[in-house]
Amino acid sequence: MKALVLERVGELTLRDIDLARTMGPDDVRVRLHTVGVCGSDVHYYTHGRIGNFVLNEPMVLGHEAAGTVTEVGANVAHLKAGDRVCMEPGIPDPSSRASRLGLYNVDPAVTFWATPPVHGVLCSETVHPAGFTYKLPDNVSFAEGAMVEPFAVGMQAAARARITPGDTAVVTGCGTIGIMVALAALAGGCSRVLISDVSPIKLKLAETYDGISGINVRETNLVDAVDAATGGWGADIVFECSGASAAIADLFKIVRPGGTVVLVGLPVEPVPMDIAAACSRECRIETVFRYANVFDRALALIAAGKVDLKPLVSGTFAFEDSIAAFKRAAEGRPEDVKLQIILDGEGN
Ligand SMILES: [Zn+2]
Repeated sequence: MKALVLERVGELTLRDIDLARTMGPDDVRVRLHTVGVCGSDVHYYTHGRIGNFVLNEPMVLGHEAAGTVTEVGANVAHLKAGDRVCMEPGIPDPSSRASRLGLYNVDPAVTFWATPPVHGVLCSETVHPAGFTYKLPDNVSFAEGAMVEPFAVGMQAAARARITPGDTAVVTGCGTIGIMVALAALAGGCSRVLISDVSPIKLKLAETYDGISGINVRETNLVDAVDAATGGWGADIVFECSGASAAIADLFKIVRPGGTVVLVGLPVEPVPMDIAAACSRECRIETVFRYANVFDRALALIAAGKVDLKPLVSGTFAFEDSIAAFKRAAEGRPEDVKLQIILDGEGN
């Protein structure tokens, strides 16, 4: 079947490739409709590796996907042919120790789309476990369905934060994930989110949402800005989404005593942290790796109109133009939050 294949660093082709698509009794077959371009896809394209995951042979990209069920396995009761769905790209071993603890996202045996050597889904169809496939409510589009995967990271961060209604949150880093975290924090009960970045364009975009105010750390010191906004007390929750050592150095100066720091961004190299500052505030530190058990909640928020992800789709490309989509994503335009590729022109 035709797919977008990353042949090696910097070389993408649209070509036929043999992909195993055998159905088991607990699987569904899905015709793909919309697939988002993720920072990780782009990073494999430009660098060929992320941490220990190295591209050694051609790999199909794409893991943020929505489509239509065309066939269901014999044991599948909650989905039927014709259902519009989105899918979790990580497939754990359901009987693993981590899965049994409800932590299937950190199951060492998880296979994840478009993470070498596992193929992604920038192709016409896939076969997926029904248990990790979610029906889209009628008022949720394929474009929104394909946004659930990146939004799920925000959902996981908000869940890990254990927000109390009315909390003030700071999000450091206004990239795609930073915005997703800010929206999930507001949906989860935060009264306001201060988001920091060096890009005025990104901050302006985030500020189009009620409850989000931007702090340009090129112009304003983040510690001073948070102090001014909180009467010197600090933020109840700080979500670190930049992975930047400069932001990480100040984390424990902006969280309030007894507050929570949630680490979402992944620094490329180990970075120093002020543990004495963390201890003196007795703050709680949480970490986030992908997500578990949040796709259904993300869809519920979108369907209820509590979270609007549509303004974050910055560009839509036809499958034939998917290499152009990746070239644009690799430019890293500050106004681009999410680019999506349409594999099937039918419906929305
Ligand atoms: Zn992604």
